[in-house]
Amino acid sequence: MQAGTPERNRPGLMKIPGTTAVVTGGASGIGRATALELARRGADVVVADVHEARLAETADAVRAVGRRCLPVRCDVTRDDDVDALASAAFAEFGAVDLLMNNAGIAVLGPPHRVEMSEWQRILDVNVLGLVRGVRAFVPAMVERGNGYVVNTASIAGVWAYSWDCAPYITSKFAAYGFSEALARSLRPLGIGVSVLCPGLVHTNLGENARHSGVPDEHAGSWIHFPPELVADAVDADAVGPMVCDAVEGERFTIFTNANDAEHYRTWRTDIDASLAAAIAGAPTPPRIA
Ligand code: NAD
Repeated sequence: MQAGTPERNRPGLMKIPGTTAVVTGGASGIGRATALELARRGADVVVADVHEARLAETADAVRAVGRRCLPVRCDVTRDDDVDALASAAFAEFGAVDLLMNNAGIAVLGPPHRVEMSEWQRILDVNVLGLVRGVRAFVPAMVERGNGYVVNTASIAGVWAYSWDCAPYITSKFAAYGFSEALARSLRPLGIGVSVLCPGLVHTNLGENARHSGVPDEHAGSWIHFPPELVADAVDADAVGPMVCDAVEGERFTIFTNANDAEHYRTWRTDIDASLAAAIAGAPTPPRIA
C-alpha cells in the first residue's frame, strides 16, 4: 500500500460489528430489514422515517437484538430534518460509519400527463433525499478517511422495466448515476459506496404509491409489471443480508433478484434492440392523450 493511502481503500475492510449505521426509510420494508440485519451483525442503528408507529416498532425490534437504536422522525425532503438527524446521531453515538439512503416513494402515470408537483415530489424524495443524506453525513467521513454510503436505487435505475412509472424510473436512474459518481469521488478518499438495485420486493411501497395524470376510467389498467419481475420477487428480509455482505465485501452494485444482473447486462449490450424487444413483448399502454 502506498504511503498516505487510507486502510479503508482496500476492499473488505468495513467490518460491521461495533459500527453505527443510519438508515433512512428504516421503519419499513427493505430499510427495516437492513437495520435489523446490521444490528444482528453488531451495529447500533439510527432509524429515520416519517412513519412514527413503524419507527417505534422497528426501534423495539433492533433493541430486542441487543443493540442500541435511536429512532428519529425525519422527512428526507426537508434540509432541516436531515441536518437534525445528523446532529442527533452524532450526539448519541459520536460518529456514523455507515449511511443507508433508502427512503423512497413511487409515482406512476403517463410521462406526458403526470403533474409537475408529483415530478417534483418524487425527485425530492428519491434523488435529493440521497443528496441531503450525503451532505449531512459524508463530510465527517471524508475528514476521518473512512465510512460507507449505500444508496437504494432500483432495478428501475438501470432498466426501464415498464411503461407505467416514468417518474419512478427517472428518479432511480438519477439515484444510480449519483451513486456511481459518488463511488468515483469517495472511494479514493477511503469511503465505500454501494448502490442497491432491488427487483420486486414484498414491502409497503404500494401503500404510498400514487397515480398522477391517469383518468378514472383507466385507474385499474395503468400498471404493468413484467411477469419475470413478479416471478423473481423476494421478501424484504432476504435483502438485509445482501446489503451487509456487499458492504463487508465492498461491492458496488447489489442486485437482489435472481435474473436482474443478467437483465442489466443484456439491456446495456444493445439498448436499441432491448427497447424494441421490451416494447414488442409488453401490452400496449392505454392511449391517454
Ligand atoms: P416501504 O414503503 O416499505 O419503505 C419505505 C419507507 O420510506 C417507509 O417507511 C416510508 O415511510 C419511508 N419514507 C417515504 N418517504 C419518506 C420521506 N420523505 N422521508 C423519510 N422517510 C420516508 O418500501 P420499500 O420497498 O422498502 O422501499 C425502500 C426503498 O427501496 C425505496 O427507495 C424504494 O424505491 C426501493 N425499491 C423498492 C422495491 C420494491 O419492490 N419494494 C424495488 C426497488 C427499489
